[in-house]
Amino acid sequence: MKELEEKIKTEGNALSSTVLKVDGFINHQVDPVLMDKIGRTFAQYYKDRGITRILTIESSGIAPAVFTALHMGVPMVILKKQTSKTLMGDVYQTNITSFTKGTSYELTLSASYIDPDDKILIIDDFLANGEAASGASRLVHMGGAQVESVGILIEKSFQKGRKRLEDAGIEVRSLARISRLGRGIIEFTQADL
Ligand code: 5GP
Repeated sequence: MKELEEKIKTEGNALSSTVLKVDGFINHQVDPVLMDKIGRTFAQYYKDRGITRILTIESSGIAPAVFTALHMGVPMVILKKQTSKTLMGDVYQTNITSFTKGTSYELTLSASYIDPDDKILIIDDFLANGEAASGASRLVHMGGAQVESVGILIEKSFQKGRKRLEDAGIEVRSLARISRLGRGIIEFTQADL
């Protein structure tokens, strides 16, 4: 997606050979016009796939996921990183190691928000080693449902996330794919959408 690549080129900041900072338009401040375009792009691509729900991981996946859900006319479910007292009843949980923080947490989904006949689209901001998306897929499977695809805003194609997901039979579609990062260097390879 050209607009996303342009935004990354002009406002993204490569902190190291593995971490890209996009706080100005995705992770801290959010650009709603860009999020709307991202939502339209995913919705157009996935329109004939029978998707019934969109799942995302809090917090940076929420903005693109909600715009995608809006344009597809389906609900969006936020997978929680912290359990709360209001999260009652049956829950599915799986352990995830955070790429940026290096800590681990229990990703949680209430059984109320997944049905065995659901076809799920998982949306997230980044794909690095595929921990978050693999964990989200495990929760979908615990609910007896099917992962139709994983839609990613920024994939770092030099990390192993895509291979890990594809080896597990999960399709990945990324709007921007970064082949190399370094201080002041952001190189792209052909994106999926
Ligand atoms: P993974 O689980 O695929 O290893 O990493 C993906 C998750 O880690 C995303 O949900 C995202 O929040 C975070 N992440 C991974 N790489 C980056 C990065 O380069 N920059 C930022 N801002 N977040 C990242």
